Amino acid sequence: MAAAPPSMPPARSPRELLQGQLAVSLPHAPALVLVTDLDGTLLGGGDPWRRRLYGWLQAERERVLHVFCTGRDLASVARVLGQERELGLGLGSPHLVIGDVGSTVACGHTLEPLPLATDPIEARWAGLPERLLPLLARIPGIASQPVTAQRRLAYLIDPAEIDPSHLAEIESHGVDCLVSDNRYLDVLPAGVNKGSTLLALLDLLELDHGRVVTAGDTLNDLAMFETGLQSVMVGNAEAALLEALPRLPRTYRARGHGCEGIVEGLRHFGFAHLFGDLL
Ligand SMILES: [Mg+2]
Repeated sequence: MAAAPPSMPPARSPRELLQGQLAVSLPHAPALVLVTDLDGTLLGGGDPWRRRLYGWLQAERERVLHVFCTGRDLASVARVLGQERELGLGLGSPHLVIGDVGSTVACGHTLEPLPLATDPIEARWAGLPERLLPLLARIPGIASQPVTAQRRLAYLIDPAEIDPSHLAEIESHGVDCLVSDNRYLDVLPAGVNKGSTLLALLDLLELDHGRVVTAGDTLNDLAMFETGLQSVMVGNAEAALLEALPRLPRTYRARGHGCEGIVEGLRHFGFAHLFGDLL
């Protein structure tokens, strides 16, 4: 008699697969998904506001899924978390980290990249650095070496010296060149940015877009605001980002800087019932 076929394990959903790559458990049905840029946004505002927001996020971990969405690479995120511990922000504070302007996704506890989210970006990046590094090194106004190179090339630039036609030539190789805060240049696989990676992550996690609020302050946050998700442009936003405000109908312009602006935006979008005594 033939042996019975082995029973197949039930297929795991993308959400279960991603959870399997994480050292933190994600809230099952978060009331809010808060996606914050770091510099000038979650790290901005006065210390009293920062303490209050960080304390609240820590207390509400089971209801509020917190995602960092930053231009920093993972080593730099680790340094920040080490420095901000006294104010209440540390390793494991965020559930998830989108780093490198959207080209890295990592666990908020271990800062280990999550292959399920980063492999598709890696595939789009293959072969590009070898082709582009020598070309970028010859452009006046761009530092000769990238400061970081994880599925992107990040440079410090002198905006007065850069000729935009040189960046257009680089983009013809299948990448996007993003200038932010008038001093950073990021070369990313075409179409990869904070917004595209956030949307892919929300898809993997099957999260309701109506519960998501993003927050940022410089041009590399524009892609988040352009997703159409509820967004907060904090009061200290750079002028170039402010110019885009009229075409961002779901983006609220806060008066408060950094953390104070984030809280103001959450109130604007109807999440104040989650604040309790801490905010
Ligand atoms: Mg920023």
